[in-house]
Amino acid sequence: RTSPALTQASTPTHCPYCALQCGMNLRAVPGGEAAGGDVVEVVERTDFPVNRGALCGKGRTAPAVLSSRVRLTEPLVRRPATGRLEPATWEEALAKIAEGLGRTREVYGRDAVGVFGGGGLTNEKAYALGKFARVVLSTSQIDYNGRFCMSSAAAAHQRAFGLDRGLPFPLEDIPRTGCVILVGSNLAETMPPALRYLTELKENGGRLIVVDPRRTRTAEQADLHLAPRPGTDLALALGLLHLVVSQGRTDDAFIQERTAGWDEARAAAMAHWPEHVERVTGVPVPQLREAVRMFCDAGTGMVLTARGPEQQSKGTDTVGAWINLCLATGKAGRPLSGYGCLTGQGNGQGGREHGQKADQLPGYRKLTDPAAREHVAGVWGVDPDSLPGPGRSAYELLDALGGDIKSLLLMGSNPVVSAPRASHIEERLRSLDFLAVADVVLSETAALADVVLPVTQWAEETGTTTNLEGRVLLRRRAVGPPPGVRTDLEVLHALAALLGHEKGFPVDPEEVFDELRRASAGGPADYSGISYRRIAEEDGVFWPCPDTSEGSAHAVEPHPGTPRLFLDRFATEDGRARFVPVVHRPAAEETDAEYPVLLTTGRVVAQYQSGAQTRRVDELNAAAPGPFVELHPRLAQRLGVGEGDRLTVVSRRGRAVAPARITDAIRSDTVFMPFHWPGEGRANTLTNPALDPTSRMPEFKVCAVRVEREGD
Ligand code: SF4
Repeated sequence: RTSPALTQASTPTHCPYCALQCGMNLRAVPGGEAAGGDVVEVVERTDFPVNRGALCGKGRTAPAVLSSRVRLTEPLVRRPATGRLEPATWEEALAKIAEGLGRTREVYGRDAVGVFGGGGLTNEKAYALGKFARVVLSTSQIDYNGRFCMSSAAAAHQRAFGLDRGLPFPLEDIPRTGCVILVGSNLAETMPPALRYLTELKENGGRLIVVDPRRTRTAEQADLHLAPRPGTDLALALGLLHLVVSQGRTDDAFIQERTAGWDEARAAAMAHWPEHVERVTGVPVPQLREAVRMFCDAGTGMVLTARGPEQQSKGTDTVGAWINLCLATGKAGRPLSGYGCLTGQGNGQGGREHGQKADQLPGYRKLTDPAAREHVAGVWGVDPDSLPGPGRSAYELLDALGGDIKSLLLMGSNPVVSAPRASHIEERLRSLDFLAVADVVLSETAALADVVLPVTQWAEETGTTTNLEGRVLLRRRAVGPPPGVRTDLEVLHALAALLGHEKGFPVDPEEVFDELRRASAGGPADYSGISYRRIAEEDGVFWPCPDTSEGSAHAVEPHPGTPRLFLDRFATEDGRARFVPVVHRPAAEETDAEYPVLLTTGRVVAQYQSGAQTRRVDELNAAAPGPFVELHPRLAQRLGVGEGDRLTVVSRRGRAVAPARITDAIRSDTVFMPFHWPGEGRANTLTNPALDPTSRMPEFKVCAVRVEREGD
């Protein structure tokens, strides 16, 4: 990195990547002439309780992206003469965006302009982007890539408990519970430092059950590994609940005192006989019985889900079935027990609370709630009636590009790689009248844009994120950005001014956070008692944390924050959790003679999401250079495939090519592909955009494919 000096000798901050938000220190190290000046080095930060100094390779190498050779440092504008993106001044680039978005609005109306955000944006950016869409552009068409991440769990959480916070308890509770059922999470690869919570659980005598069609590095730690056919987790959970009931293991007092709707949920579960569940899932009845015994024998227990059960066209009901299991056994709303979602993206939790989601206003308020509209409009100084209503969900919005959405402003996302049915979405992006992208590198999506803005990265700016526990954290600016790069907040400020809003979009993140606090006050995700100072002093504050001084003439104790939710009552009107009757239904796409194999997708330890950043890090690329197709030896034999053979995987939406990796750690009816790469091995070319009817989450985790040796 040339030039910029660190703002302090060593700065405590957090990793730019996943939802664990590991603590780290950053410091400048003289890199000598060859390195072009100071380089930024990660130093262990043992005082942050979540990771206690541990980092995975992604976090440890994150500074490499700061000084990457392919870092964007000047705006780019597509020139009509060449058709290519070429350097431009900030003034020209911003003017072109204002003109492009403004012209679309004039010609086609305000909902012809779309905005797409990301779960990696800080709370301040997510808030400012939502406000920009609704106040400056007046469009309802805003959503973000977090819709692809955990929205089914969020919807199920809301439905059962009246409130969605990924984990309603801190991670530190996990080792002290009696039994954990981990469903569709490979945290040994997605967030390795979190594995210690499971290791400590077992050291303390707790039991671990892992549900995953693959025997992952996480599943290898389990006392019991259940490997259901992809897309059948819902049947599995219902089968377990059937056994809980038939074996008399329900907690009737808890059901009576703390819940509602049991009779209907019970009846639905009793229709799922274990033998039938075995046929649907492939999990033998004795394993189902053993899981029930382990979970019920433990005095306390947790179910933790991740993308496996959530990224399905019935994800909300699938998570709901696991919640029903917790409620029926009295393992929710009690110390050391409960259901939780292991959110994926760095600010996946905060990103869904502050208004970049199609149906939400800041503070996790509903856009359709008149009181919420009035409150937020009051903070924004606008007429509540001027705020648009809910827009389309992420996939639906992307699918409408070039149709009734003509222009798009995109921040913090790379849907060309990460969206389902990705080649179709790439076509939609190409068909836009105007596309503007703000990013740190020329991602595959940015490469399609008419204007690209180079923006700052995590270590170059201050802002808050909310990790998977609901702990609000402060990422501190540790290094100055390269000349020519601006923050997303500066971009929104400048665009707002060009579009006639001189005020209301500050560039100072703390000023934005103060407004966010007021906008969230009284809402479900109440941040009003949280300040940068408190976060720094307390190493994070758990929401809800209302401002206790509001309206008080006397000094009052600040609210301590809420590490544990639902211990006295759930967040529903009557304080009771809701059972929801759910029944199994097949995946949107089942195997047939033409597409006889199931595809499931996921992640590898050395890459993060669409790989836009991690694919630019030499060490990570060396560890995970490209996609692969994992398949069982029996399937390989049937197809005549050897290790390393290039395979073509074909679905109804397209084809992808990648080498074979043969392992008995996967079911023989299923192949697995990681989704981090573009090009011929792009796994999301194959995936199915069938949407969950409640959460609008696409079905990334299961579709039908044909596998062939390339050239056959
Ligand atoms: Fe970063 Fe997640 Fe790795 Fe921690 S586990 S270092 S937050 S990517």
